[in-house]
Amino acid sequence: VIQFRGRFLLSIGILLFSFSALSAGCNCHDLPYQELDDIDHNPPQSDKITYVRVGNLIDPENAVVLKDQLIAIQYEKVISITPWKDPPKGDCIDWSGYTVLPGLIDCHAHLVGAESTANVAEPLLYSAADDVLLGCYNARVTLEAGFTTVHDVGAFRALTDVSLKNAINNGYVIGPRMNVVGTYIQALGGGGEVTSGLAPDIKVPADFQVGVVSNPNDVRLKVNYLLGRGADSIKLIATGAVMVVGGGVGLQELTNEEIEMACKTAVARGSWVVAHANSPDGIINCINGGVRAIEHASLITDEGIALAKKKGVFLDMDIYCGSWIEDVGTKEKWHPDILRKNRETTEAQRENFRKAVKAGCKMTFGTDSGIYPHGKNARQFKYMVQYGMTPMQAIQAATVTAAELLMWSDMVGALSPGHYADMIAVKGDPLKDITILENVAHVIKGGIVIK
Ligand SMILES: [Zn+2]
Repeated sequence: VIQFRGRFLLSIGILLFSFSALSAGCNCHDLPYQELDDIDHNPPQSDKITYVRVGNLIDPENAVVLKDQLIAIQYEKVISITPWKDPPKGDCIDWSGYTVLPGLIDCHAHLVGAESTANVAEPLLYSAADDVLLGCYNARVTLEAGFTTVHDVGAFRALTDVSLKNAINNGYVIGPRMNVVGTYIQALGGGGEVTSGLAPDIKVPADFQVGVVSNPNDVRLKVNYLLGRGADSIKLIATGAVMVVGGGVGLQELTNEEIEMACKTAVARGSWVVAHANSPDGIINCINGGVRAIEHASLITDEGIALAKKKGVFLDMDIYCGSWIEDVGTKEKWHPDILRKNRETTEAQRENFRKAVKAGCKMTFGTDSGIYPHGKNARQFKYMVQYGMTPMQAIQAATVTAAELLMWSDMVGALSPGHYADMIAVKGDPLKDITILENVAHVIKGGIVIK
């Protein structure tokens, strides 16, 4: 709680500082928006061209490194990338001493609300307003860590993630581009409802239960409800979860008919579905039901890997998070069920990750940030390389492949002309030492210097 209060005050402080600096009309080069007026006209509408001189440019689209380049940016987007010659006319940001790559994408983040603690009732300590304000802080540290886009795969209180996304898109809050799911579609007592470990007669607030379903028609109504109110995609809790008391990760919680209905309904609206699925059969049933990505996929079998590969289903495996739960969870005495299930899945998931990489599955970078503190997302790169990826493959998982999963390939995940000018700068060569991505020196989002 003390830690939370500190963070809460800090996020309020950041907001107050941002607004007071903006309203004073100061020459705030390090703030994303220079004038209060701009907030109403986000993005800035100047036709001015800004340049970035780049020492080494990692291009994950083509898996090459280009030396000494000049990126031109206009209206938030990259308009050209050319070899550096003479200094251009106009503002030029000098990143000649850095390695530059597209802004990173975390396909499994939970920006809204408090981080996991030993208290299974932690999410019940805060109001929806607390959760979103805390989300403002989480959004900023995530962006400053180099993650310019996230797939936010679930908030306990329904549609709080939509509020945060809108505040970012409107320029009121500094954070990554968000693709959000509204809340979890889950069975009664599913992992997103926060009833596990509570006394059986405790009722959780109604907004924790918006995504609770009991039959396929219910699924259809709830998917339509969420997509109609600002969700971009849908998240199913299809099988048991590590982070709940009781149950097993091997249990399937949604029926095959419910999974199929979710996919059919979402796809009919131009959207798509990801499924939290750990159990071998649950993963196969989700893939056959039409999901676009499997989250966690801890206990995926050879058959599941082959099916994912055949159907082009993405695997979004959070292979760092288990170490955090083991280290911090043990120290802070998290519930024994959680620690047990984490031990049952961590190494298995990593070995299955290795197999899936070898099989040539589409692998995305997703971390489950929110279980561990936001901003440490890049720690997962080390594990992805340790478990079978080349550094370039790990970077592709967090850029081009992640963008493909989000159906945002034309907007993010690469720096060719037409993409948002979202980019990060690091000292040194992450293709030699991937942990360099844990220390991002500079961040530009939509052509605006964030850090
Ligand atoms: Zn998660």
